[in-house]
Amino acid sequence: MRHKFKGAIMAAIMFCMSYGVTHAEPMKLVYDGTAHTYDLPPISLSINNTPVQTTIMPPIQLGERVLVPTREVFEPMGLAVEWRASENKVYVYDQTSLLVLEVNGAEAFVNGEMKPLDMPPKIINEKLMIPIRFISEQLGFKVNWQGDIRSISIEKPLPTPTEELPDPDENTVSEPQPMPDFENSLSHVVYQYETSTLILDKPAGLSAGNILVTDLYRDRKLIIDLQGNYSQFFNGGSLTGRQGKIKNAAIDNTNGTKLVIDTFTVSAVNLYEQDNKIHIQFVKPSEKYEKIVVLDAGHGGEDSGTVGGGIKEKDINLVFTTDIYNLFINDPNIKVYMTRETDFKPSLADRVALANEVGADLFICMHNNSINKPEINGTETFYFASSVQGQYFAKLVQAGIVQNLNMTDRKAKADTGYYVLKNTKMPAALIEVGFLSSEIDRQKLTQPDFSPRLADIIYNATLTYFENYQSLN
Ligand SMILES: [Zn+2]
Repeated sequence: MRHKFKGAIMAAIMFCMSYGVTHAEPMKLVYDGTAHTYDLPPISLSINNTPVQTTIMPPIQLGERVLVPTREVFEPMGLAVEWRASENKVYVYDQTSLLVLEVNGAEAFVNGEMKPLDMPPKIINEKLMIPIRFISEQLGFKVNWQGDIRSISIEKPLPTPTEELPDPDENTVSEPQPMPDFENSLSHVVYQYETSTLILDKPAGLSAGNILVTDLYRDRKLIIDLQGNYSQFFNGGSLTGRQGKIKNAAIDNTNGTKLVIDTFTVSAVNLYEQDNKIHIQFVKPSEKYEKIVVLDAGHGGEDSGTVGGGIKEKDINLVFTTDIYNLFINDPNIKVYMTRETDFKPSLADRVALANEVGADLFICMHNNSINKPEINGTETFYFASSVQGQYFAKLVQAGIVQNLNMTDRKAKADTGYYVLKNTKMPAALIEVGFLSSEIDRQKLTQPDFSPRLADIIYNATLTYFENYQSLN
């Protein structure tokens, strides 16, 4: 009897202790642009039954949700955590999962799907804090919250043997993810498939700043020149992808060390160092560049276009387009691509594919005209009939040429027939600068200052267009 009584007292004391969690000193938390006083009792955290003390910030309860410092909690669980300040987003990933959460965003990207978030990540006291339950559950971890003792524990399940069929009763929150579809045996190079990033170990002497990237975009090929001989270090292997960004990657040590990358679609490269490794990330050009222009010199190769007075249209188209290109290539705010730089003939489909793949903002197609009436001359500019923005740009170009180059005004015209206007997904203009069948036009077009002045007009029309086009929607 006596013993039982003692036990009851002990139980009562234990009970009181567990409730007697002292209130911490009130903290001042700054988030969402305001200072808040936070005086909830501390929350204890454990991962796989091991207590975890976060140092940069304690777990913080906001409403019904607990936010934790991202790296300190998720990196020990084998996840990579990457904060991208320019995007205001945090990337959390491992071999099979990728989560992207935006600070104060209402939705999260989870393995290709957008899912609603009841508590978004927040910057609290300048530290990135993310909702522990949401992330954990999406990654297939078990989360257990014990409100009475203010304890949160996460359990990362052990990997199940691959032969074992999934138990239909155990439908966990996260669906099984297909394994990334690539094989990589490159020495000292890891392919992080989810972010399309090659991560290179750094041999002595190599730095991201010295690497030279050559973009052979029409071939969907990039040459990453490490500008040195690292053949002892990067000594072989290959990477083959069946989907994603990279189709093939190989190391070429014939004359210094280069990575030769074939991509499925035209890709841009983000090159940086992180944690003493070189990161080479492949992205869609429109993800990297604010504005993109694709220039298309009509005809080429065996296709001369029209011919008049000894001038082949394909040649003069290329002269004009190259002068325009040279203005854009010096503009750091606009990325420019050309469907051809020399005398060959890309198919119409190739021209359109380039513009669509890079996610161009504007497609400019250069041609010259011909008719069997030599008295007809002048400039005309075509746009796709339903494109208000294309019309605006075409009118800017047309007006500029007529006013500044003394060309007869044959107007900006709506059209639905031109393949390139019809199949490009962005506003586009096709400029028929002059008539090679007209002696008057040939005289004008072949003046030495004509092409540079034409280039100026088209470049300036593009700048004006980019400044104003948003108001046209
Ligand atoms: Zn033509």
